[in-house]
Amino acid sequence: MKYLDEYRDPVLARRLIGEIRAAARHRWSIMEVCGGQTHTIVRQGIDELIPVRMVHGPGCPVCVTPLATVDRALAIAARPEVIFTSFGDMLRVPGSGTDLLSAKARGADVRVVYSPLDAVRLAAANPGRQVVFFAVGFETTAPANAMAVLTAAREGLANFSVLVSHVLVPPAMSAIMESASVDAFLAAGHVCAVMGWTEYEPLAARYRVPIVVTGFEPLDLLEGILMVVRQLEEGRFEVENQYARAVRREGNTFARDALRRVFRVSGQTWRGIGDIPDSGLVLAPEFAAYDAALRFGVAGLSAREHPACIAGDILRGTSTPLDCPAYGTLCTPRRPLGAPMVSAEGTCAAYHNAGRVRQEAQEVLP
Ligand code: SF4
Repeated sequence: MKYLDEYRDPVLARRLIGEIRAAARHRWSIMEVCGGQTHTIVRQGIDELIPVRMVHGPGCPVCVTPLATVDRALAIAARPEVIFTSFGDMLRVPGSGTDLLSAKARGADVRVVYSPLDAVRLAAANPGRQVVFFAVGFETTAPANAMAVLTAAREGLANFSVLVSHVLVPPAMSAIMESASVDAFLAAGHVCAVMGWTEYEPLAARYRVPIVVTGFEPLDLLEGILMVVRQLEEGRFEVENQYARAVRREGNTFARDALRRVFRVSGQTWRGIGDIPDSGLVLAPEFAAYDAALRFGVAGLSAREHPACIAGDILRGTSTPLDCPAYGTLCTPRRPLGAPMVSAEGTCAAYHNAGRVRQEAQEVLP
């Protein structure tokens, strides 16, 4: 397969693993920020082949969307005048009592769309209904959501709104460095394709950590890890770019401009982690009319996590799913207790799908 097999070449993978083993004189802790990277690392067993500790970061957007926001989505979707639209990955995320898929089964008009612009078109085609899009994710998805709001504004669609839960990566990395022990980061290539990497340079300097912008295929990750290990062993802490085929230093200026027009930076609650200053996006005051939380009066809803779930420790990189007593027993991809078990990018689901089991569970297997 052109453009994919090149990044899964086993001969090159073995060579890179050998170079990492030769370069690493210490057992460094390296956090991959993005859930897509976690998925590749765990599925391919990369973390079991190299002499570094891979720490799985908070970069799964589904996993960090606050429980209260899922409850707000459910409250809005239950209204008879609403067509609630979302990408498919949010439908099975458990709220306090149920999820959007179950709400749909009970009659709520919940629809999967492939672009927020599909939701705008639905609003144009259904002037008698309220169409709401669940605008979730990192800097990667925010530009398309900004374009949807700009399109709705340009077309004068008063029946379109967005339930916003956008999170920003650099403040989360900063919060992790304040509370956890990580020697270096693999930054998420797709986020940097939008935002560039200038925001990471002050972080690298302040916390004296190497940061390597890295892609998602096995060879991308192995090369990114090798670049990080070389920096660590040489005592350097720079921002380097492994994902040069997709990322430029300044990012995508068109997308960044759309973000600047539609959103403002604000404090944000991360599911399982808590509040992180300046780590989210909200609609700018001139677009407040498109804020579904305000339009439907659900902004004040709050919620409490399942007491067994240690997702916060996992998202901060201080525990792995194998440390969670509910992993694989009370909590499975079919019956998730917490968000990291729902999404394929979630660390718990990645471990479960790769067949990793807790030690106690292993001991009772026949
Ligand atoms: S295994 Fe389930 S309960 Fe445990 S941390 Fe992961 S999502 Fe939460």
